[in-house]
Amino acid sequence: MIQHQDLYRNTLCYSSQHLCQLTEKEIWIKMESQQPSGSFKNRGIGLFCLEKAKEGFRQFVSSSGGNAGCAAAYACKNIGAKITVVVPKSTPKKRINLIRQEEAEVIIHGNDWQEADQLARKMVTESKACYISPFDDPLIWKGHATMIKEIKDAGYKPDAVVVAVGGGGLLSGVIEGMQDAGWTDISVYAVETEGADSYAAALRAGIPVEIPAITSAAKSLGARKVAEQAVKWATVHPIVSKVVKDEDAISACKKFENHEGEKVELAAGASLSLIYGMDPDVMKHQRILVVVCGESSE
Ligand SMILES: *Cc1c(COP(=O)(O)O)cnc(C)c1O
Repeated sequence: MIQHQDLYRNTLCYSSQHLCQLTEKEIWIKMESQQPSGSFKNRGIGLFCLEKAKEGFRQFVSSSGGNAGCAAAYACKNIGAKITVVVPKSTPKKRINLIRQEEAEVIIHGNDWQEADQLARKMVTESKACYISPFDDPLIWKGHATMIKEIKDAGYKPDAVVVAVGGGGLLSGVIEGMQDAGWTDISVYAVETEGADSYAAALRAGIPVEIPAITSAAKSLGARKVAEQAVKWATVHPIVSKVVKDEDAISACKKFENHEGEKVELAAGASLSLIYGMDPDVMKHQRILVVVCGESSE
């Protein structure tokens, strides 16, 4: 029987010489862009699909043309389950081909993710298939939490963690992992871009609220409403919300490519921009871990 560890990779965690010199801090980079489908989503969605397959599900439906759909297709291929990925019309051809390469059936429907998601949910109610949320399930958080265990087992203990927030699945998993590791007082900087700042809005309101539209170019961060768990964690764990500009995320991606030789997603650039931009709150810490959440799909 296939195990969770077969569905993701242990990724590199390294100290960036350039960033250490620039900031005079210890900057550790966790390269989740090295995952088989290019993002950390292999961890959580891998565990979700595996556990649901154990419960007897043989057919899955995902509604993402982005990294969640790729990770779901990868997991299902390896588990031997069938999957349909519903993607909106705006999804690039290259992406669709990548998902098809993982032997998933692709349905192109709707003008945006919301419309694709409606069809996916409807398909599930009419069949015995299992719906895969991109970020909102305890199994997904548990899967993402393996990232922190891996870092701890490698001998690292940061005093701040910088991580991007879309729907808050990654954040919830990272914090679950930190709580499990006993890192309960280590600050987490939760980074979004302007126009995708649904977590900042939720923290202001005290509950998840829907922001009117996604206007940021960082599409991986484009959940209009975050998972409730991500908001709950803020009452338990020290979390600082940060909202950066798209242009700073873009510039951070360029610098990262020049100095570290890796093309990463804007979502990762958003986190890295706090380091390149020497954010005064983050720079209060000495050992700073940055989660580089995904590779560029351009
Ligand atoms: C999904 C994704 C995010 C956001 O993760 P959430 O769990 O939705 O908060 C950030 N970066 C990349 C590369 C992603 O694929």
